[in-house]
Amino acid sequence: MSKNGFLYHVAIAVKDIKKAEDIYSKLLGLRVVHREDVVNYGVKTSMLCSESEEGTAVELIEPLDENSPISQFLEKRGEGVHHICFLVDDIESSLRALEKEGVRLIDEHPRPGSYNCKVAFIHPKSMNGVLVELAEKVKD
Ligand code: ZN
Repeated sequence: MSKNGFLYHVAIAVKDIKKAEDIYSKLLGLRVVHREDVVNYGVKTSMLCSESEEGTAVELIEPLDENSPISQFLEKRGEGVHHICFLVDDIESSLRALEKEGVRLIDEHPRPGSYNCKVAFIHPKSMNGVLVELAEKVKD
């Protein structure tokens, strides 16, 4: 079944991913299901899910170094929601369709993301002030 449009995760920029994992797992009962450094985005990530692993995940992101775009985000705005991510069936065709509508893309072509996904970001100016990520699962 198509998962097109499913809210895959909400990403939260944090200064200390270990502490943040503790908060979300101990206080809300979420479970860490995946940890990965995504070097081309300059971030350390941790994916947390519900007990059943169904529903939308929380992605914690911590900058890998001071050149990471997340470092700039934390400096400017502090910790908080950074982006939301929707699944799409075919990311290339989604990007081409958005481009046709005049939507401002940050990534014109997908890049490798975490969790076996191809991802691309859409500029918040075109998405009501929200940084939106699209993700296509390469394999489960
Ligand atoms: Zn994300």
